[in-house]
Amino acid sequence: MLTGKVLNEYAKLVLKIGVNLQKGQGLEIICPVEKRTVAHVLTKTAYQLGAKIVNVRWTDQTVDKMTFTYADEKTLTEVPKWLVDSKNYLVENNFCYIAVSSEDPSAFKKIPAQKIAVYSKARSKALKKFSDTVMANGIRWCVISVPTLAWAKQVFPNEKNPEKTLSLAIAKTMRLDTENPTEEWTKHVETLDKRAEFLNQTQFEYLIFENSIGTDLKVGLADDHVWLSAKEIAKDGLPFVANMPTEEVFTAPHRLKVDGVLKSAMPLCENGQIIDDFSITFKDGKITDFCAKKGYETLKQLINTDSGTARLGEVALIGKNSPIAKSGILFYNTLFDENASCHLAIGKAYPTTIKNGNNLSVKELLEKGANDSVEHVDFMIGTKDLSVRGIKKDGTEIVLFKDGEWNI
Ligand code: ZN
Ligand code: ZN
Repeated sequence: MLTGKVLNEYAKLVLKIGVNLQKGQGLEIICPVEKRTVAHVLTKTAYQLGAKIVNVRWTDQTVDKMTFTYADEKTLTEVPKWLVDSKNYLVENNFCYIAVSSEDPSAFKKIPAQKIAVYSKARSKALKKFSDTVMANGIRWCVISVPTLAWAKQVFPNEKNPEKTLSLAIAKTMRLDTENPTEEWTKHVETLDKRAEFLNQTQFEYLIFENSIGTDLKVGLADDHVWLSAKEIAKDGLPFVANMPTEEVFTAPHRLKVDGVLKSAMPLCENGQIIDDFSITFKDGKITDFCAKKGYETLKQLINTDSGTARLGEVALIGKNSPIAKSGILFYNTLFDENASCHLAIGKAYPTTIKNGNNLSVKELLEKGANDSVEHVDFMIGTKDLSVRGIKKDGTEIVLFKDGEWNI
């Protein structure tokens, strides 16, 4: 279990390497109500590290499920002003932000996809200013996960103590099983950084993804795109790590220059519903066709959210030998699954993946090819036989990925 010494170590890692909490700074933690202990340890550790104030906000999928069941659709689109204000308060007062993402992947299985879609769209729209700031690294933020019983049961349905097994798996991906996790993380961040540096120096015009299940996709990269990895720099100049664990090197695709077909490599959990075995076709950056054996309605709602959800906002490279991929576990949680496989995201691009992007307007970013939307949803396309070729402006090419692993 994530308890005792391991949990203390985990909290320290997230606060120091993750959000890089500074003395005198405020912190907000979003945490599932059944994981009170985790929030308590994070809070205590944050105060010990000098936090000015720690706010904890609880999430509760049981209450959410009741709301989705009984509230009418119109009510679900109403977003309280205090919620929007409370998020903007974090930005205005330079808080750090930790989100504990531990949803039960099937929590809303029986709720009509349409109901969740209207709720989620209204929230994303109302909170766009905040999510834009987060995506532009206007505050230092970090997404982490701890196992809940419902989630663990989905991952390990046949285990006697699924929560314990999932805890051990997460501890491993967080490198908490090593002697000095902080040192391991520093080394890991450096390795990823070197790959990003190589890609930035080479400046490919586009990438070609191919595999045996039918992915054949040309992904043009945005003008002035920047490859990023684990270490990001916030607006205040301080480094932080936005996802823990993380294995990816990522940038912005060009919103008008994606052509071909992709096949999903793993299921995608979106708003407590599962989308699986899907394929998407693109022409000039836009989704022109899609199908899904499971969760078609949810995928359709997602793609139709706004004009930006029919285009891509992220392309990320991850080798098949990353600790998460090697574990062979399907986590049903994007934080882990996206780090086991090359992935793309539907929706908004991170402004930080464009040179000087934080100082550009949405219009200027769009002109460079960086997509805008109220959504950003990652999905996995990396299979064990995936090849990725990078093509430069002069037509020369470099094989970046061979059989699902880095080739550089
Ligand atoms: Zn990503
Ligand atoms: Zn993403």
